[in-house]
Amino acid sequence: MGNERSGAPKMWQEEGDGLVRCLLCHHRCRLREGGVGRCGVRRAVGGEMTSLVYGRVVAANIDPIEKKPLYHVLPGSRTYSIATLGCNFTCRHCQNAAISQVGEGAAVQRSGVAREPGEIVAAALAGGCRSISYTYVEPTVFFEYAYDCSLLAVQAGLGNIFVSNGYMTGQAIDHIAPLLTAINIDLKAWDDDFYRHICGGSLQPVLDSIARCRERGVWVEVTTLLIPGVNDGDGELAAIADFLVSLDANIPWHVSAYHPAHLMWQPGPTPAATLVRARDIGLARGLRHVYTGNRAGCGGEDTMCPQCGLVLIARQGYRIGEMRLVGGRCPACGTSLAGVWQ
Ligand code: SF4
Repeated sequence: MGNERSGAPKMWQEEGDGLVRCLLCHHRCRLREGGVGRCGVRRAVGGEMTSLVYGRVVAANIDPIEKKPLYHVLPGSRTYSIATLGCNFTCRHCQNAAISQVGEGAAVQRSGVAREPGEIVAAALAGGCRSISYTYVEPTVFFEYAYDCSLLAVQAGLGNIFVSNGYMTGQAIDHIAPLLTAINIDLKAWDDDFYRHICGGSLQPVLDSIARCRERGVWVEVTTLLIPGVNDGDGELAAIADFLVSLDANIPWHVSAYHPAHLMWQPGPTPAATLVRARDIGLARGLRHVYTGNRAGCGGEDTMCPQCGLVLIARQGYRIGEMRLVGGRCPACGTSLAGVWQ
């Protein structure tokens, strides 16, 4: 589509000589007429940047919000999760490569099922969801659609959640932040080479996005998928924890198990001991909430009161076992727990 259907702000600029620059992510693709960006789903047409996937939904599911993962946002609630094709990263270990890594062209424009933003909001409400999640691929690449859905969702009393690689520009964050309840940002490694060679991105913009989303009042949780021998060194994990503590020790950090996928079949899956070690490092560096994920039997899934240690939210996988939090506070010592509880 052209972007004429969308109420989203214009996220591109003309650069003369028929060139158009996309302002959505740090690739800042500069395209000639007909050119397609690195994400495969945005094309320069008639001197404008257009989305090839507006309203073309390739995945729609009702998920527990814990699956995003978000552990400090409306615990136990359902979230209506959607995606189009496309991604601005090329992670060799992508768990959703079938929909994120796409070729450009007509097949993209015919992908999925056509659904207007109002239909997404109606489906979320009908499914008993309290939020809509833009997830599975990088939502920045379908920004206009996510923006329009988010606007209607807010009007309907629903929250909005981005699950993101954090590579969006500051301008994109500033536009979407007022509509977002929360964002989970992947901090994939404390290593720019990892970002360049494994993901096709770079580290610093991701760090900037984490800080900026917080500054704009969006609740932020961070996830790091631990790949054995690749990004799981003690020093690297400590550096990530130190960075998060420097912003706010209350930022929840999810250390998750990797499973071989897409183009990365070695090494094997993350051992439980690595997740336990990462959690221990995060807590020792001063983070208040570090959670293990994607692997059972590690412990580290419950939310504890940072003051008295009482288990406030007990979890088994994505299910809430017991909820003791009362009005966002510990019932034993009255300490307020950081998060979005209403
Ligand atoms: S969103 Fe796509 S077209 Fe825009 S800068 Fe990023 S990769 Fe390029």
